[in-house]
Amino acid sequence: MSVISHVIEKVKHIDPEQKEFHQAVIEVLETLEPTVERHPEFVTAGIYERIVEPERVIMFRVPWVTDKGEVSVNRGFRVQFNNALGPFKGGLRFHPSVNLGIIKFLGFEQIFKNSLTTLPMGGGKGGSDFDPKGKSDGEVMRFCQSFMRELYRHIGPETDVPAGDIGVGGREIGYLFGYYKKIRNEHTGVLTGKGLEYGGSLIRPEATGYGTVYFAQEMLATRGQDFKDKIVAVSGSGNVAQYAIEKVNELGGRVITICDSSATIIDEKGIDNDKCCYIMELKNIRRGRIQEYSEKYKTECYLDKNVWDVIRENGIKIDIALPCATQNEIDGQNAKALIANGCFCVAEGANMPSTPEAVDVYQENNILYGPGKAANAGGVATSGLEMSQNSLKLSWTREEVDHRLLLIMKSIHKSCLDASEAYGKKGDYVTGANIAGFIKVARAMLAYGAV
Ligand code: NDP
Repeated sequence: MSVISHVIEKVKHIDPEQKEFHQAVIEVLETLEPTVERHPEFVTAGIYERIVEPERVIMFRVPWVTDKGEVSVNRGFRVQFNNALGPFKGGLRFHPSVNLGIIKFLGFEQIFKNSLTTLPMGGGKGGSDFDPKGKSDGEVMRFCQSFMRELYRHIGPETDVPAGDIGVGGREIGYLFGYYKKIRNEHTGVLTGKGLEYGGSLIRPEATGYGTVYFAQEMLATRGQDFKDKIVAVSGSGNVAQYAIEKVNELGGRVITICDSSATIIDEKGIDNDKCCYIMELKNIRRGRIQEYSEKYKTECYLDKNVWDVIRENGIKIDIALPCATQNEIDGQNAKALIANGCFCVAEGANMPSTPEAVDVYQENNILYGPGKAANAGGVATSGLEMSQNSLKLSWTREEVDHRLLLIMKSIHKSCLDASEAYGKKGDYVTGANIAGFIKVARAMLAYGAV
């Protein structure tokens, strides 16, 4: 049995219920097979066994008081996965589906993603099964304060620097940072995604969405294509989706879909920047449901369906897909339907939004496919830039940060292509991203000895 199969079997055996984590480990390790032969020193040093085991897992009780005065309890998590390249770094997710397996899958992906950015950041992830939907600002604040009351002792600018993810945006980061500052009596860069007034970076809110589109643009250029006049499907309507739409519009594409967890909208005329501003106001300020978009703009609305089901069931033609909602949103049959309807490029704004069957379909049909750990790395890369600005105590302009983001996405794209070619899988971005991300972390782990 190869070391890779052995590690995969062990991961499944010791934590049988962590399905999403198994999926992420299998996806990465299977593509690392060529590194085993070329780097026997990694095998001897147990790098493959060690990289799937988090450095530390923190789980804690988060009690908080509702507006009615009742005590509610959630579970908090922080998985500090690997700090070979720098302090642990990765977002916090607040969503009822959160459990240890999901946080471990996200933390594991984050190791390779952060390595690809070339910035000195390790991988981590955290969150809670708390659902901010339908909660008042006061309730969200009290929850965030209780969450930080435990988390503060495990994080720090040189130790672990959390950021946002699903359900954690500017409002939540403000409450979390405010409480950290209060109890530590320190104003440091311990979180990223902060407001501009208190240490945030320009372009950080835009970075994941913009970066995903920049990555797609690089992939398209390899086939002499670009976004101009292309029909684009975007899923989600949160942070990543909003800025992906804005950047596609700037590059001349037409986005015709969005969704939230209750409905999908099809707007054949295109979601222009005015409509995108409306979505931002609806989702970020009023915290409403996406159905309201269809009432305002008189478009089609499909309740309880995701974007990819609607495209398949209605035979909607699209050129480019940017899944920006959540994991496993595109399955094998939806992937087949996308390609049958003309899609030739998928760039993942979300983490692991395609099931393994969907990825097989993309690869069998030789479409351009940018996996999340490469395509959506612009968010954490710009968080890295926020950390640099915090430690230098200065702020760069919007243009400067955006330019650095573009260069980082170009460089990630090139690293993926170079690694895929060097390891005999030319043009395979999945293998390229995994190997390029892995090699750097593995070399650092090798240098440290068995720690
Ligand atoms: P947000 O919370 O801002 O938005 C998430 C969006 O996805 C919402 O519109 C939400 O709908 C929708 N959604 C969530 N679950 C489902 C579901 N099961 N079916 C349909 N729609 C769903 O999160 P982000 O935009 O920050 O994150 C989106 C994805 O991008 C995640 O996979 C995240 O891990 C990834 N990512 C985010 C980064 C960042 O910088 N924010 C960085 C890199 C990756 P609703 O409003 O109903 O909740």
